[in-house]
Amino acid sequence: MSDNSAATPRLADVSPDGKRWIAETLFDDLGIRMSYRVDKVLYEARTAHQHLVLFEQPFFGKMLMLDGATQITAADEFIYQEMMAHVPLFAHGDARDVLIIGGGDCGIAEEVLKHKTVKRLTQVEIDATVVEFAKKHFPEFAKPVFADQRFASVIDDGMKYVAKCAATTGRRFDVIIIDSTDPQGPGKVLFSRKFYAACKRCLNKGGVLVTQNGVPMLQPRELLASVSAFRRLFADGTCYLAAIPTYVGGHMAMGFATDDRRLRQTSGKMLAARHRRAGGFSTKYWTPEVQVAAFALPRFIADLVAKAARR
Ligand code: SAM
Repeated sequence: MSDNSAATPRLADVSPDGKRWIAETLFDDLGIRMSYRVDKVLYEARTAHQHLVLFEQPFFGKMLMLDGATQITAADEFIYQEMMAHVPLFAHGDARDVLIIGGGDCGIAEEVLKHKTVKRLTQVEIDATVVEFAKKHFPEFAKPVFADQRFASVIDDGMKYVAKCAATTGRRFDVIIIDSTDPQGPGKVLFSRKFYAACKRCLNKGGVLVTQNGVPMLQPRELLASVSAFRRLFADGTCYLAAIPTYVGGHMAMGFATDDRRLRQTSGKMLAARHRRAGGFSTKYWTPEVQVAAFALPRFIADLVAKAARR
């Protein structure tokens, strides 16, 4: 994957009818570009860490891109946010202290705080602009999150934060969720072995680490590298899947690592009971059956995971 962290989505694309289009440039090196017609640019800035643009899209609604990569859209965010939050929490079964690295849009934080069994949630985001921007443009997430006593927002590099936890503060978590950008720019270090090793040292016994791990069809190396690191650090390392329309390329992989091999085999019946205990809140994508099925990998992805395990 080429490092195009300086890329700025070209707003230059104007169709013959005068409509503006924004292109996702994440897969330029693969010769793949997805373009979105723009009804209105709501916000655009170069922050201390990356290029940020938010626009109204006729079908997907509000769309956020960072450095030419789609982060979140109003229409399909629920799929990714629910699967990144509920799968590790229900697999664990008794998670009280949760850490999110990245996630500045507060979408996953909002899902985690739906679990009344969670006692404390810390979010460590490198870019303060993204958090301030979420308060203004994604109040549906940020408002309930910042109003919740259990929530703490930290502005820091995720690598530095977990290194500090592991070395000094002694802070430990039951679940760590890495809702990062892709392995370019500030997000690159969050796909490194030293980062995963530091995360492991910050987990309580039986803790779970989940990661945003790209789309295997277009980003196979990302999944290979992460799962191979997981297998060296944890008793169990694999991924689970969901299809998110604006994460172009088919299945989206979410890395899953823990020392408790039983967790990903938790039965649908047990997951349903844990959902009730957590408050039985409504969901639009996650169900106990979807969680069980998400770990059933198609052959080409299972082969990638097996190859990673042999590395
Ligand atoms: N769901 C999106 C995806 O799959 O691409 C990610 C959404 S979230 C907005 C990604 C966040 O990770 C961004 O706000 C970015 O600033 C943050 N981030 C990137 N590198 C980071 C780092 N080293 N430490 C903490 N946060 C980081």
